[in-house]
Amino acid sequence: MIDYATDWRAVGACLGADPDLFFPIAVGPAATAQVQRALRICDGCQVRQQCLEFAVRTGESHGIWGGTTPDDRVRARRARTRRASRRPLAYQGVTV
Ligand code: SF4
Repeated sequence: MIDYATDWRAVGACLGADPDLFFPIAVGPAATAQVQRALRICDGCQVRQQCLEFAVRTGESHGIWGGTTPDDRVRARRARTRRASRRPLAYQGVTV
């Protein structure tokens, strides 16, 4: 039985896919096409959320994870930081 919280990699839709799709080393139209193919694979992945959470938590700065590009994750982290900074200090775990 699969524990999706810890074994999500074992059931990712990218298992067996060309790793170059998820970690293109070049830039330009060919790399863009690779990324688009990877994102389409992620679209049908049953552990997309777990994969994305891992990438965000570990600060993965390269590759496609959870249906996101590195730029997507940077934007998501910035938005999360902005939201957190707007919360009252008491809700941020700060004792005043
Ligand atoms: S979300 Fe994408 S990168 Fe993550 S396990 Fe699924 S197919 Fe692989």
